[in-house]
Amino acid sequence: MRALTFVPGGKDTLEVREVPDPEPRQGELLVQGLALGICGTDRELVQGDYGWPPPGEERMVIGHESLGRVLRAPDGSAFSPGDLVAGVVRRPDPEPCGACRRGEFDMCRNGRYTERGIKELDGFGSELWTIEAAYAVRVDPALDTLGVLVEPASVVAKAWEQIERIGARAWFEPRTLLVTGAGPIGLLAALLGRQRGLETHVLDRSPPGLKSSLVEELGGIYHSSSTLEDFQRAKPDIIIECTGAGQLVIDSLTTTAAVGIVCLCGLAPGGRAHRVDAGVINRDIVLENDVVFGTVNANLRHFRAAAEALARADRRWLERLITRRVPLTRALEAFEPAKDVKAVIDLTA
Ligand SMILES: [Zn+2]
Repeated sequence: MRALTFVPGGKDTLEVREVPDPEPRQGELLVQGLALGICGTDRELVQGDYGWPPPGEERMVIGHESLGRVLRAPDGSAFSPGDLVAGVVRRPDPEPCGACRRGEFDMCRNGRYTERGIKELDGFGSELWTIEAAYAVRVDPALDTLGVLVEPASVVAKAWEQIERIGARAWFEPRTLLVTGAGPIGLLAALLGRQRGLETHVLDRSPPGLKSSLVEELGGIYHSSSTLEDFQRAKPDIIIECTGAGQLVIDSLTTTAAVGIVCLCGLAPGGRAHRVDAGVINRDIVLENDVVFGTVNANLRHFRAAAEALARADRRWLERLITRRVPLTRALEAFEPAKDVKAVIDLTA
């Protein structure tokens, strides 16, 4: 079979190679790979920024945003041939920490977890892949290849679960949401915000175009801006920060309404210093009972919530998030610096 492989830590090593077909072990599904989503993490992996091959290997299969069709399922599993599935990315560490032991491996305490396509496990960028039935998530057949959005949506589903758990510390009926950054994560965060009935604002530096039209189609309000100036008077109840841009992160800390929640989801390189008045930030957070928290990754529960959220979404809207589709034969094009929202590789072509 063909697989999209790279050498972790190396530069320009990404290539489609012929590799042996995988053999499912006990309790595993054999899956035909249909689609693979590419994100910033994948682009960093192929630049050699990080990534760890499976023990004893030099190359590994890339890809953690998966969609496939079950070819073979073990007897007694919840799956049958023909089912669409997406794979959970992370696995608990071998000697699980308390969080991993309870299935909360997205909250691993010792960093010894492994991840498909990133850390010590082959990814899903191949014509065939295997997965433990316990880490496969059923995808609504009506979603078809849009099921490739389950992984990015799982990150957002976790963010929302955490926001709601934090909100549950007291009376919590949020009305307004601000999402900063209108990439795939920001747009999916806005989708889940609209599904919760929130007045949803999305801020992105892009001029009006595809992103603004996607936000407006959701019933949201688009702000083409790189500052939070618009929100100083009517501060949102919740901010989901998806850019990682230093100034936006800092300003978001003081731009929520009282008892506000700031969820930090974005990542950006360090090295740029900002002047901050720590006293003002501290006062704002203390006097408003605000919470600021970070979130990354997702566990099985979040993948299932993501699959359900996507099944409820408008499929034409989801379709427009995927702005580039390339066949496996031209897979490298999906890694070019992205002007688009989401690039997807068709593993069947
Ligand atoms: Zn752990």
